[in-house]
Amino acid sequence: MKWPSLFKWRSRRKPPSLTECPKCGKEMVLIEKTTMTGNDMRTYRCEDCREEHVVNFGTALWKILSDARDEQ
Ligand SMILES: [Zn+2]
Repeated sequence: MKWPSLFKWRSRRKPPSLTECPKCGKEMVLIEKTTMTGNDMRTYRCEDCREEHVVNFGTALWKILSDARDEQ
């Protein structure tokens, strides 16, 4: 049986970091953070590639809290 590619990706020695450049793997600098849409979206910049990458950190904290309040 062939393992799915996701398993291979997970079994790498170093866990992938959301704040690392997807191109060169260097730690990126946080430029901007917005939770307006209900998602914790952060813009990171890689000084090496001179590129900006938007990283989605998932549901914003305020959204989780307000959803929890609605359920009560
Ligand atoms: Zn880079």
